[in-house]
Amino acid sequence: MLRYLLLRTSYIYLIVHILMKQLILIILLAISSVAFASNAHIEYDSLVNVYFASAKKNMEAKKYDSAHADFKNLFKLKSTIPDDAAYYYGLNQFYRTKYKQAQQGFEKYVRLLGDKGTLFDSSIYYIARAQCFEKGYVEEKEECNLCHGTSHSKIKCLKCKGVGKEYCSLCSGSGVIISRNNFGDSYQKCYKCEGTGITLCSVCHGTTFQDGDCPQCNGKGYVIKRKDCK
Ligand SMILES: [Zn+2]
Ligand SMILES: [Zn+2]
Ligand SMILES: [Zn+2]
Repeated sequence: MLRYLLLRTSYIYLIVHILMKQLILIILLAISSVAFASNAHIEYDSLVNVYFASAKKNMEAKKYDSAHADFKNLFKLKSTIPDDAAYYYGLNQFYRTKYKQAQQGFEKYVRLLGDKGTLFDSSIYYIARAQCFEKGYVEEKEECNLCHGTSHSKIKCLKCKGVGKEYCSLCSGSGVIISRNNFGDSYQKCYKCEGTGITLCSVCHGTTFQDGDCPQCNGKGYVIKRKDCK
């Protein structure tokens, strides 16, 4: 009887022990899933939301200077800021007739999101408008039609100026090598240029061309075209 009781209690202990283990595991899983959920979307600093919302509200009320103060406070936070903020900053500066800064805001937005941003078309429109007010014309980047955007080009060899040949470096173009010894000077035909005094260009090896920066776009790959404002 005693033996039976002992066995029974140890059996109960075992069951409780397994259940406790399961419970701990479930709790751990629950905690980790909560932590993951909070990482799934970006949580902005609460002040970021406050200043950005205030800036947009002030813009709606046409209080552009107040909105500008909000943007200044927002950028001062040095926190992660929504990409849209660059666009709205640009738009607000546009209304404040600060066209250069407006352009910088829109360009920053385009740099951050490329043409995938929902405000991309609007940004491009305002960049052009801001340029028209600022300079009276629109500057647009166009792919260089000489290098097709690669920025490299075959250019006339700069060393030989497109001749493909240069004076022999060994005999300095004389075709003769002079060596002095006890019996006086001896003259020998230069073996490098075989007495001609001329060798193939050491840069282009006679092709007369070399790879270099495209001369049309100065190696930028694009040219800036001015367009009239509509
Ligand atoms: Zn080019
Ligand atoms: Zn030579
Ligand atoms: Zn050359």
